[in-house]
Amino acid sequence: MNPVKLDTVRPYRPITLSQLKNHPVWNRLEPELQKSVEVVAQVLPFRTSSYVVEELIDWARVPEDPIFVLNFPQRGMLDPEDFDRVAAALERGDRAGLAEAVRAVRFKLNPHPAGQLTHNVPTLNGRRLEGLQHKYRETVLVFPSPGQVCHAYCTYCFRWAQFVGEPDLRMATHEAEDFLAYLKAHPEVTDVLFTGGDPMVMKTAVLRRFIEPLLDPALAHVQNIRIGTKALAYWPYRFFDDELLALFEKVVAAGRHLAVMAHFTHPRELETEAVKEAIRRIRATGAVIRTQAPLVAHINDDPEVWAKKWRTEVKLGLVPYYMFVERDTGPKRFFEVPLYRAHEIFKDAYKQVSGLARSVRGPSMSAFPGKVRVVGTAKLGGEKVFVLEFLQARNPDWVGRPFFAKYDERATWLDDLSPAFGERFFYQDELAAMSG
Ligand SMILES: *Cc1c(COP(=O)(O)O)cnc(C)c1O
Ligand code: SF4
Repeated sequence: MNPVKLDTVRPYRPITLSQLKNHPVWNRLEPELQKSVEVVAQVLPFRTSSYVVEELIDWARVPEDPIFVLNFPQRGMLDPEDFDRVAAALERGDRAGLAEAVRAVRFKLNPHPAGQLTHNVPTLNGRRLEGLQHKYRETVLVFPSPGQVCHAYCTYCFRWAQFVGEPDLRMATHEAEDFLAYLKAHPEVTDVLFTGGDPMVMKTAVLRRFIEPLLDPALAHVQNIRIGTKALAYWPYRFFDDELLALFEKVVAAGRHLAVMAHFTHPRELETEAVKEAIRRIRATGAVIRTQAPLVAHINDDPEVWAKKWRTEVKLGLVPYYMFVERDTGPKRFFEVPLYRAHEIFKDAYKQVSGLARSVRGPSMSAFPGKVRVVGTAKLGGEKVFVLEFLQARNPDWVGRPFFAKYDERATWLDDLSPAFGERFFYQDELAAMSG
């Protein structure tokens, strides 16, 4: 890994598949590895960057290196028959056949889990506001259209469908006006969360157009402004921009809480001088950085990795927030961790760290009814069960009420679970009535 000069903001250089093939690192990959990168990248989005390749990946540890697995397509991400089908079309140079194979494989991969496109889109005067999501009473998600890509793509990305150029699979808002009008009509909303993609790919001037209007006293009920981003991990130099930092300061000076919801998958991402300096600069504005990531096989499915991550975060002044269960979409099979194991990893990491790091909650599934945490396992009335609770729910009354599912060692998602006592989970009838 190279030493970093902090007085110069390095230019952001994305590396796509065709650029990768002309990059010196391509020749560091065995031919078999080159083939799997090339084949899987036909189906799933691939993008890495100069920062990831030059400063994060430990090339001596490739192909097992966690950051390599985080960014570079892995053969196991496709079912073997799908891999072979795409590989064969690619080898034949059969463009039409390749396009057809790619389409078919993508649609098998459950591109929109948890009713994302259909169920959470709010309306204003009878019109659907695309690019907004309002699932939990107090928080509105905003997907600004210029922020629907990322500096690099995570191999496990649950929003992969919007990066592969199927226009009807994409959510985005074009109109800042729409979401401001919606917020004015919804005084119960205390939090606005900008998400993507990654909103930090937007130029500061563009980001400002979304954020500044929220400081209007007419929107004083919007107490918390959150920015969901992986830029601290993929492009920390983004936060060396004085104009951006001035915008953050302005939000804080207006009396709002500015939360940078930073996605850190592995403690390696917290090690470079660039990320440490970016964290210092953000914190100096008065913004708070909270951290979240999914638990994924081949990258961070190890309690030592999480304990180190949370400890390092606290040391750097970050607040550990969520550990997620990998969602039921895309290459889920490759990255999934059974729920019982997810809970063990969480518990074995959690017990090692001080109370300052125990602000983290998880493992949590962002499922259709809400965010469901696996509290643990227990034996009740002779039956082994999972104890579950809602951290967030479509009906806030469901939150914090323990419920029980039959223990199942193979279960990796809420849909795999059945109620332990009785026929239905307590929320099911109400949920069915809500979704009509
Ligand atoms: C996670 C999430 C939120 C925010 O939930 P918090 O628990 O307040 O962080 C809001 N909306 C959706 C759709 C979410 O998945
Ligand atoms: S940063 Fe988030 S949206 Fe972007 S590729 Fe990674 S998981 Fe997907």
